[in-house]
Amino acid sequence: MAMKVDKRTHLTIAYTILTVLLFLFMHNYLGSPVDNIPYSEFRKKVAEGKVAECVIGSETISGKLRPPESGFVTVRVEDAELVEVLMANGVEINGAQESTWLTTLLSWILPAVFFVGIWMFMARRLGGGSGGLMSIGKSKAKVYMEKGTGITFQDVAGIDEAKEELQEVVEFLKTPGRFQALGGRIPRGVLLVGSPGTGKTLLAKAVAGEAGVPFFSLTGSDFVEMFVGVGAARVRDLFEQAKKHAPAIIFIDELDALGKARGISSIGGHDEREQTLNQLLAELDGFDTNAGIILMGATNRPEILDPALLRPGRFDRMVTVDRPDKKGREAILKIHSRGVKLSADADLRDLASRTPGFAGADLANVINEAALLAARRGKQEITRDELAEAVERAVAGLQRKSRVLNEKERRIVAYHEAGHAIVGELLPHANPVIKISIIPRGVAALGYTMNMPTEDRYLMTREELTDTACALLAGRASEEIVFGEVSTGAANDLQRATQIAENMVKEYGMSQALGLVSHREERNPQFLGMPAADRNYSEDTARQIDIEVRQIIAGCYERSKELLHEHRQVLEEVVKVLWEKETMEGEELRRLLRGEEAQSASQEEALTPAPAPEDQLSPEPR
Ligand code: ADP
Ligand code: MG
Ligand code: ZN
Repeated sequence: MAMKVDKRTHLTIAYTILTVLLFLFMHNYLGSPVDNIPYSEFRKKVAEGKVAECVIGSETISGKLRPPESGFVTVRVEDAELVEVLMANGVEINGAQESTWLTTLLSWILPAVFFVGIWMFMARRLGGGSGGLMSIGKSKAKVYMEKGTGITFQDVAGIDEAKEELQEVVEFLKTPGRFQALGGRIPRGVLLVGSPGTGKTLLAKAVAGEAGVPFFSLTGSDFVEMFVGVGAARVRDLFEQAKKHAPAIIFIDELDALGKARGISSIGGHDEREQTLNQLLAELDGFDTNAGIILMGATNRPEILDPALLRPGRFDRMVTVDRPDKKGREAILKIHSRGVKLSADADLRDLASRTPGFAGADLANVINEAALLAARRGKQEITRDELAEAVERAVAGLQRKSRVLNEKERRIVAYHEAGHAIVGELLPHANPVIKISIIPRGVAALGYTMNMPTEDRYLMTREELTDTACALLAGRASEEIVFGEVSTGAANDLQRATQIAENMVKEYGMSQALGLVSHREERNPQFLGMPAADRNYSEDTARQIDIEVRQIIAGCYERSKELLHEHRQVLEEVVKVLWEKETMEGEELRRLLRGEEAQSASQEEALTPAPAPEDQLSPEPR
């Protein structure tokens, strides 16, 4: 860095000197003190014999006057007798001599050089700190490589699932040969997806550090302001260099800046980005995995990526990097307080419980801020007070960006997610719950309930569809039961449930009233998102469809509410766990539900004969 600043300073000084010289030159040579006299006076002076010599230029006549040696200049006027008169008066005549090579050089080339200089200076700035325009030609020599990142998994905490998934990549990079011998499917491109500051860049570096391989990196946003062609050249270069140093990691940070879907970009397009993206795609296809190169990318907006990037053989594996839960936050705080002095009363666990929704970078920031505060106050150690104040500041900042929720919002989210999870688990045909979380994920989701993936399901029965819709509506149902009101957080759930119900009625012929008819609307692919124009059914049918859809939704909603009323105890328990730990495994939820069953069974046994199994099933609505 220091070198770069030096260079820039030199340049600035050089240009300043050049400018001064230029002005001096113009003043002394071009603008030497001369009298500007009218032509008539010039003729008079010639006649009086006062002109010693003159230079006739194309537009001016200049020269020297006789007794006191002084210069003059006058406008040249069309005057046929002039030469004769001059000769007659013994004036020495010279041809147009203004443009000697020196004057030409100085008056034209110097300014040209000057402006080219300014242009290059600007171009260099535009090109960004690393490289810039001047280095296109010699970009071969440019190094994107970090030999050893010096970062290992030890420096990363709170995202254990992502770490686990990347362990395989580490294994492969360590011993590519052995991995292939075992017939392992070699990962090719891994895309890290997560909110800003969750540690994606850190994690990629840690993978390189763990495997002990060089780390080549580029940042997508670097290309946005560059000149056409530079980005593509850099990408080509990057891959070339990485291949020479294999096994290695190529990391492309902020992939979304580069890999925005083509065609949906800004008006006027962005040639440079597109070219770079195309080059990247070409390189992705061009190298074979046996080369021992793993491609990693990071983005916080996977939904806007060009689908071409996500195709098999490219970034075909996604690893989610979530915000940490309470335990994770404590671990991250521990890592970042390694280098600072904490007083005995500083309690990191307590700090972790007061920072819900914080990402790793936010936590690192808190420690940093606290250290600064302590220093400003002249303390030797960071005490509880500084930590508390740092957290307060961070919370205020994040709340402004609406990234952390207040207590009431968090309670609503907890009941909402618990509702999804319990109903999803109780209904036999909904997908089993894997994990419940009230840690905000991404921009939109305040919490989430993760179910078994349904991607490989092409056939779903009517029961599976309704159960899924019920689970989707259960979040809202839970809010209504507990708070008596509903929040806006359920909008997406409602949309998805409605979609399912509509599909059941319109496409799958699962409605008794409408029967086995497909009312699917033909969508004109060119106008996606526009209301479908050509539907093949009448107004009357449309009304009937609406009624049917509404009935399905209402039935599901009622059923969810009933189930939650019935299992209110479990609902409270789940919320309690979520409140404390922020996440809950599906297995734990099932244990709670079984526990309740066992409990209620033993209670009822004491009072009444064992209930028939059918009684425990909630009755179907309708
Ligand atoms: P991202 O790339 O996801 O935006 P970064 O990797 O740039 O986030 O994280 C910025 C900094 O925040 C890191 O350098 C590190 O100091 C800290 N940090 C973020 N996540 C973690 C984590 N999971 N564990 C430890 N430190 C973290
Ligand atoms: Mg990053
Ligand atoms: Zn929901």
